[in-house]
Amino acid sequence: MIREMISGMALTLRKLFERPVTIQYPEQKPDVPPRYRGSIVLTRDPSGEERCVACYLCSAACPVDCITIEATEREDGRRYPAAFRINFLRCIMCGMCAEACPTLAIQMDPNFEMGEVRQQDMIYEKDDLLINGPGKYPDYSFWEEAGVAVTHALGQGRQDQPPADPRSNLP
Ligand code: SF4
Ligand code: SF4
Repeated sequence: MIREMISGMALTLRKLFERPVTIQYPEQKPDVPPRYRGSIVLTRDPSGEERCVACYLCSAACPVDCITIEATEREDGRRYPAAFRINFLRCIMCGMCAEACPTLAIQMDPNFEMGEVRQQDMIYEKDDLLINGPGKYPDYSFWEEAGVAVTHALGQGRQDQPPADPRSNLP
């Protein structure tokens, strides 16, 4: 019994002189990793056009069904979402929507400060989600690689890699 008490006191004494791991949030912000799954944004491609082509894949992949999209089309045939809503009251920040997106439009950023007093404020519309930049993929343009107006041959696109040579693996 005495031994346990002494070892407990020794541990307390040792921790007194160690650097504290707590931080004074919110004055002091924690460092979160760049791939942290925080709030969700809709990004634009390098030409400034919105990347989302309203394919509904993110909505289908979402396990809690919190994404609502209404698709429409421009005169040049490019699809985009007329409405895009995420209900963050239900979102579990799983990242499945970002994984499913073929155009890298929907991305998760490290912002975790999304608390609101009113429930209605947790419903984000397209205006709340669409940002003015390309997010984590500054050079990627889905439209130039797979849009309806693509004219280049397969493998000749700006972002295409040269074909792999299987003989390069031979000893
Ligand atoms: S992070 Fe997960 S739960 Fe949230 S919108 Fe995306 S798929 Fe749905
Ligand atoms: S965000 Fe991506 S997956 Fe969702 S509708 Fe737009 S293009 Fe499709």
